[in-house]
Amino acid sequence: MKKALVCGAGGFIGSHLVKRLKSEGFWVRGADLKFPEYDKTAADDFVQGDLRDQTVCNKVLDQYFDEVYQLAADMGGAGYIFTGENDANVMHNSSLINLNIVERCVKQKIGRVFYSSSACMYPAYNQEDPDNPKCNEDSAYPAAPDSEYGWEKLFSERLYLAFNRNYGLNVRVARFHNIFGILGTWKGGKEKAPAALCRKVAETEDGGVIEVWGDGKQTRSFLYIDECIDGILRLTRSDWTGPVNIGSEEMVSINQLAEMIIGISGKKISIKNIPGPVGVRGRNSDNKLIEEKINWKPTQPLIEGLKQTYTWINEQVKTSVDTIV
Ligand code: NAD
Repeated sequence: MKKALVCGAGGFIGSHLVKRLKSEGFWVRGADLKFPEYDKTAADDFVQGDLRDQTVCNKVLDQYFDEVYQLAADMGGAGYIFTGENDANVMHNSSLINLNIVERCVKQKIGRVFYSSSACMYPAYNQEDPDNPKCNEDSAYPAAPDSEYGWEKLFSERLYLAFNRNYGLNVRVARFHNIFGILGTWKGGKEKAPAALCRKVAETEDGGVIEVWGDGKQTRSFLYIDECIDGILRLTRSDWTGPVNIGSEEMVSINQLAEMIIGISGKKISIKNIPGPVGVRGRNSDNKLIEEKINWKPTQPLIEGLKQTYTWINEQVKTSVDTIV
């Protein structure tokens, strides 16, 4: 039986990935500070611990795994990474995790190691025009990410690639572009735009108003979680190292995203744009390279994933209101 380790298995993408690996017949170990918030973990074994701590990493990587997925990171949405308040923690915590894990992977001669970088590593100067952002893989340099979160991602993807060159570690590096879906963080300050907007719409009465950060003209693309898992697995099992974008090319403005969610809700809700942390003006995945190298592209339009996500968050909102009452 093949074995996989998922670091960050208590998080959004990690918990979905564990489920998929189980459905493929893997024996799966998960590792995280916490268990998944909205569902039981599907992992056969779960180490609850701090991956900044080398002794925890030794325990987590105490044996050979065919596949290791490193998704653990100190991260959140714009309200977490763009205010500046969490910069030191984000850089320190995520770097330590990656420094520990990559070294243990070499010691255990791990088969394949997947590392999740982010589109936040792309230079801010290429993302000033909301209608024309540039995020092809080789536009990464000269480096100028818009956040310390992006700088740490750039450092860590280089770290994995250096271990590949110097120690022959079989790494895969993907740059995710805004992954969203059910069973993801939807409140508390670490939620990202699709979940935050679904929550605001779900909490607002027919005829009400929701607040949207920025002028609403900033653009992004969003990829549904199931498609992201397909991309991760296809890349990991390919012979292409990356770094490569995993995202959608269906770019929308944040106000358009809000309008799509309002449409799904069936309510009449208007949008009020207010000042808030927003990041770059425009960002969109460029999938030329991933299509060429591993023949992967998203299969469904944004609206389909939004319908599922809104339905799930609406249920969560109703349940939490019922609990308070
Ligand atoms: P998430 O926050 O839900 O999951 C990250 C997990 O890492 C959390 O469960 C957290 O508890 C765990 N973690 C943090 N510090 C830890 C520590 N010291 N020890 C052990 N576990 C620790 O985030 P996600 O959306 O599932 O993202 C997974 C990965 O993908 C992250 O590396 C993230 O930076 C990257 N990424 C995500 C997106 C996105 O849109 N979701 C976009 C780009 C990149």
